[in-house]
Amino acid sequence: MNESSARAVTRRALLGAGAATAALATTAAAPAAASGHRTPRSNTHVVLLGTAGGPSLLQGSDRHGISSAVVVGDRYYLVDAGHGIYHQLLKARLGNWNKLPAEPLDGLRAVFLTHLHSDHVSDLATLFTSGLFAGLDRADPPVQLIGPGDRGVLPPVFGGVPEPAIVAPEEPTPGTTAMWHHLIRAFATDYNDRSRDNGKPSPHNLVEAHDIVLPSELAADPNGTPHPAMNPIDVYEDDRVKVTGILVQHAPIFPAFAFRFDTEDGSVVFSGDTSPSDNLIRLADGADVLLHEVMSVAAVEEGFPKPRTPQQEGLVQHLLSAHTSIEDVGPVAERAGAKKLVLHHFVPPHRPEREWRNAQKGFSGRLIVGQDLDVINVGTGRSRGQR
Ligand SMILES: [Zn+2]
Repeated sequence: MNESSARAVTRRALLGAGAATAALATTAAAPAAASGHRTPRSNTHVVLLGTAGGPSLLQGSDRHGISSAVVVGDRYYLVDAGHGIYHQLLKARLGNWNKLPAEPLDGLRAVFLTHLHSDHVSDLATLFTSGLFAGLDRADPPVQLIGPGDRGVLPPVFGGVPEPAIVAPEEPTPGTTAMWHHLIRAFATDYNDRSRDNGKPSPHNLVEAHDIVLPSELAADPNGTPHPAMNPIDVYEDDRVKVTGILVQHAPIFPAFAFRFDTEDGSVVFSGDTSPSDNLIRLADGADVLLHEVMSVAAVEEGFPKPRTPQQEGLVQHLLSAHTSIEDVGPVAERAGAKKLVLHHFVPPHRPEREWRNAQKGFSGRLIVGQDLDVINVGTGRSRGQR
């Protein structure tokens, strides 16, 4: 996104007294028209880079892995980094998408990880390695990578099977910071080659990783369910956005977070992966936009027809308790008082849109069944071709 104009805003108007003094907010430029692309009008908008949920490869869907961009003027923030987003950044025209070579990562300010399932994080490796040639090498200040910390204890063995061998028993549940450090080591051959042969900067100077710190009483029992009730906690703040987070219910994964972004234009909440969650409803109170995961129970029933083995039945119950059904997501958005409900992270991703539209039941606001590269305005204004 290029900067076409800038106007000074008082930060206090956005975040209240005590926040950073003043900042520039920019109005998104209207890039040259091209077929199919939707030009955002509002300063803050969300681009759905990928909308598929789960790690399976399923025929019949061209949705990319789960990832979204919150765009505020000429900067953007990623929520999750599922498979395929590297090229989606280009298609979404983020950052310097129109320069040769394209450098879409030059507008990236931070990446937020809801939880550490691979379908939410697998393209971090591409972003932070190949990205050296797509604008990451000019990151100043460094890109902030923010996500769950080490859960500290392995989850219980599910389904009555024997205890499996533990992967990396010396550190079996690394959090976000450790994952980043391990990723640097795993790609050290490439990083050292790029620095010596191409003059690229050290990844240590381009990305700063942080684990979200939970109050100790909330982190005490990672295997406890349901998630403890809590109030939102501060996660991140700069001159464009304030981000808060809350624990959601995606057991046995822990911690799993939902995030809320507040900007001068409005508010947008990401549910992360969760079953219906009172914490999420608290976080999303009155949000302009709620992006929520959704699962088709019919697809689960078809995938595991009865009679089921005890293990199959266990897996079915596991899926049902870790995600939100089409029938439940509308009432969640209604209880939160969200103005707009956007479905994404479709489990499974290949079901027809008409099935997902049943989520309108129980929700009096506007329902959008998300598609890859949809642009969702946050707050005021909506122009033709947008959602
Ligand atoms: Zn998950």
